[in-house]
Amino acid sequence: MWADVIPEAEGDMVFQMNEDTSGTLNLVGASLAEIEALVAELGEARFRARQLFAGIYRRRLRGWEMFTDLARPLREKLGQRAAIAYPEVVSVFQSADGTRRYLFEVGGSHRIESVFIPEEKRDTACISTQAGCAVGCLFCATAKVPRRRNLSAGEIIGQILALQADRDSGPRRFNIVLMGMGEPLLNYDNVMKALQLMTDPLGMAVSHRRITLSTSGIVPGLERLAQEKLIPNLAISLNATTDAVRDRLIPINRKWNIAALLDACSRFPLEPRRRITFEYVLIEGVNDFPEDALRLVRLLKGAKKKVNLIPLNADPLIPLKPPAEESVLAFQRILLDHHLTAYIRRPRGEDVSAACGMLAARDLPGAILKDL
Ligand code: SAH
Ligand code: SF4
Repeated sequence: MWADVIPEAEGDMVFQMNEDTSGTLNLVGASLAEIEALVAELGEARFRARQLFAGIYRRRLRGWEMFTDLARPLREKLGQRAAIAYPEVVSVFQSADGTRRYLFEVGGSHRIESVFIPEEKRDTACISTQAGCAVGCLFCATAKVPRRRNLSAGEIIGQILALQADRDSGPRRFNIVLMGMGEPLLNYDNVMKALQLMTDPLGMAVSHRRITLSTSGIVPGLERLAQEKLIPNLAISLNATTDAVRDRLIPINRKWNIAALLDACSRFPLEPRRRITFEYVLIEGVNDFPEDALRLVRLLKGAKKKVNLIPLNADPLIPLKPPAEESVLAFQRILLDHHLTAYIRRPRGEDVSAACGMLAARDLPGAILKDL
């Protein structure tokens, strides 16, 4: 049983944590308030909760024996009631460019993926928010994953802990992008809880400016996010300049069309010098025409924005092709000539199916098993 509800640990608080069939709680994904409730249940002093919280998320301790600052009887008591369990690594695929794709199993049955992208200044962790994705974009391999479900906050933040634990070098700063499998705004509460845990100064302490949430355009989710205290960077997967084309590529466009999406973006609060990233996957013969580039300029006029052009990552699961290099450059040239900041995003980890849109939780030959 996961996401069990344990009522009334302290005051009226009700909290949710992962609990396995033996009744063991998984503290990965637990908030400070939830850990305080556990500590109260065990009859321990409240300040212990902060120690546990920092141990799990900041010091990244993975077993009670590593909490050497706690007395042995308390460690034993904790061990009987709770665990610190990361998502289970099934395989790791190492790309020639250094990118690593991780295949995890969560809840004993669903498979999800994360991508670790080492870069000169900072590493980037690209993590999943759902197993599979119900949005069903025509160009995306994740849409083909048959078994779907929301990930819990623990399964979301657990991917980051697992990636960090597996790094060769010492602690380095991380960018976090919610651009793996799934639509984050369709798993709103768990994603928000995970974001709070990522940014908590007592824990991972990642700045919200280092976190990017990418969405296919769930307008009510965007409106809700706009009201939050904690707002990450926003990336919008626009991918088309007419509703006719976007309807085909991203079925939810029939519900929230380009005008509704851009309207929500125009009302989205941005800190000074922050911009919304508009992602545009270029697909040959579908959305890569010079008229598309000109329409994009008009659609984004006035917005605080930049554009990331992503030539489609071809995949056997997808019946579409990327444009030729000249067309990609010509498209970018039109945007630049109209003073629109536009970058071309080159695929990382393509050889191990780790590039954008290729995550389909598949196993391939050539996997390195963890700890080998
Ligand atoms: N569901 C969210 C986040 C995950 S998808 C969203 O759609 O934004 C992350 C990015 O990968 C999106 O910008 C999406 O447009 C892009 N993408 C999906 N399939 C792709 C493919 N085959 N090639 C290149 N980019 C792709
Ligand atoms: Fe889901 Fe994003 Fe893939 Fe569309 S592109 S199917 S929204 S993960």
